[in-house]
Amino acid sequence: MTTHAQADTRPAFLDGTSKRLLIDGRWVAAASGKTFDTVDPSTGQVLASVAAGDREDVDRAVATARRAFEGPWSKLKPYDRQQIILKLADLVDRHFDELTLIDTLDMGAPISRTRASRRRLLGLLHFYAGMATALHGNTVDNSLPGDYVTYTLREPVGVVGAITPWNGPLVSWIWKVGPVLATGCTMVLKPAEESPLSALRMGELLLEAGLPDGVVNIVTGHGETAGAALAAHPGVDKVAFTGSFETGQKIVQASVGNLKRITLELGGKSPDIVFSDADMELAVPGAAMAAFGNSGQVCSAGTRLYVERGIYDEFVERVADYGRSLKVGHGIDPEAQIGPLVSEQQLQRVSGYLDVGRQEGARIAAGGTRLAQGVFAGGYFVQPTVFADVRDDMRIAREEIFGPVVSAVPFTDIEDVARRANDTVYGLGSGVWTRDVGKAHYLAKAIRAGSVWVNCYQAMDPAMPFGGYKGSGYGRESGVQQFDDYLNTKAVWIRVG
Ligand code: ADP
Repeated sequence: MTTHAQADTRPAFLDGTSKRLLIDGRWVAAASGKTFDTVDPSTGQVLASVAAGDREDVDRAVATARRAFEGPWSKLKPYDRQQIILKLADLVDRHFDELTLIDTLDMGAPISRTRASRRRLLGLLHFYAGMATALHGNTVDNSLPGDYVTYTLREPVGVVGAITPWNGPLVSWIWKVGPVLATGCTMVLKPAEESPLSALRMGELLLEAGLPDGVVNIVTGHGETAGAALAAHPGVDKVAFTGSFETGQKIVQASVGNLKRITLELGGKSPDIVFSDADMELAVPGAAMAAFGNSGQVCSAGTRLYVERGIYDEFVERVADYGRSLKVGHGIDPEAQIGPLVSEQQLQRVSGYLDVGRQEGARIAAGGTRLAQGVFAGGYFVQPTVFADVRDDMRIAREEIFGPVVSAVPFTDIEDVARRANDTVYGLGSGVWTRDVGKAHYLAKAIRAGSVWVNCYQAMDPAMPFGGYKGSGYGRESGVQQFDDYLNTKAVWIRVG
């Protein structure tokens, strides 16, 4: 097996062995013996072969997770679970360079981006560790005649099926495993087939951190097989899903058998609104990176750029200049700011939208083509692209592209732009660039989306909830709200006296 990564940049984890499933604390092949290849999108070359788990493996993993849930794990004190998360955080810190290199090779995000996530990832793990000992029920004052003591217990929901996407493998993993460990649930995790490797390496670190067997199981495989089996499994109490709107619909349909709980973090077509009074030194790079960061493969990417009419032409030109100045390169190129798209399939999808935009009559102000020559040969690279003269009804202004493509639309009136910003099935992120605090507050209330970023974009913190309105899903990642989805509340009534 060959990769473009030099020996000194190749993590020891990628040693040519086929990667296995983690079930009951052991690494095992898929029952079918089948594997699939995961590919470095910077080169199109195979990185590793990975077990293609299916229904039978999911059945075993769910049964294991159930046993673990009912076993000694359920007796562990919150402090003991906290210590495991803290140990994991230490291991992630120690192996951070390796983990981020694995993600860069597996899904293409430039090393400058993956390596910038240390504080964020460790902060999340420390947050979950802290929450493990902070979750509690309440005593409740009741008004019944007679003497009753009433209180609530908060108990883990049980076996969680987690299905994660490819665009941020490490953070997605922590967002799912963190609340499971903090609340005392157990889980079966199905990482995305495009970038499953860091999840498996994290599985090794979890075992090293002392996690009891069977508490976290990892079944790699395809969405239509392993993912679908997990989503429909009657032994799963809750599914935590991050991915596309269409797959989210399938997850809901698959849940009816046992009415399992679901949380969905889905797509978006997030509005990013720039007023003429904005600080342009902030707004130009901010709006550009809101759309181009991670090659636009971010569910909350700010891809509908509404610019106040008076500055429209100048602002669009400045964002276009910024897009042209970004260095596109291989993930492991330390100077690369924009990497490839994750897969051939994603390249086809984004290229298709570039054609759609042209056919709809939008003007390309920057980018607009695939990069396939020279160092880009074999990889899935697309230039950062700015479409100007876009109308709200064009497909490029309505549909999620999931590539480095932004559609710029002019506006004149704040109420009108609020209405247009909300005219979408989605409601995940949104941006506002202004020096006027009144406009900021007006739009913070008016926009129907899970996050509103003013004079910044995609700011994230463990203590802040992240999630969607409308077709962007329900439930939250991080923030204290997230734990509600992993806990049942039991009402206890004790008649005394
Ligand atoms: P994308 O189209 O961006 O790859 P998906 O929603 O298809 O997003 O994928 C997100 C995750 O959902 C991946 O782990 C994928 O394997 C999984 N998945 C895809 N289809 C299904 C399905 N029918 N049931 C359950 N999981 C699925």
